[in-house]
Amino acid sequence: MRLRRAPDGTGDGVLATQPFATGDTVMVGFLIGELTGNDSHATQVGPDRWARHGGLGPKVNHSCDPNCGVRLNEGHAFDFVARRAIAAGGELTFDYAMRNFTIDHFPAICLCGAERCRGSVTGWKDLPAARKADYGELVAPYLRAMDERSAAVATPVP
Ligand SMILES: [Zn+2]
Repeated sequence: MRLRRAPDGTGDGVLATQPFATGDTVMVGFLIGELTGNDSHATQVGPDRWARHGGLGPKVNHSCDPNCGVRLNEGHAFDFVARRAIAAGGELTFDYAMRNFTIDHFPAICLCGAERCRGSVTGWKDLPAARKADYGELVAPYLRAMDERSAAVATPVP
């Protein structure tokens, strides 16, 4: 993996230095600290837990049609897993909604440029059901449990 740096910092991204096939673990994640709450560089690692990832993980950009998904590993950090073939030199992307139930610290307008861009960076909570199905198992395991919890709260008792 190699970091692409832009002069103003807004074009930073992570590029593959070798090709990957669908299902390959592209990058192993590791945590460098627990946080007491969410911030713009935090990763949600549980329903009410946030942490900081080390390495290049925090530099992977959001896309509404990403080439990577995420998988929780034994260190409670997220690995990036290829959702489709990635060529050497290709930029790694994932959907922030794969880890965050809500997005609190990003601009509302999404500039990912994907054909199927949602127009704004939303959390899992606001992801269309078809996208949730599309992402399959390559999302944080707590998100579907949080869906059930909020559905239970929202359902009126007859
Ligand atoms: Zn987008």
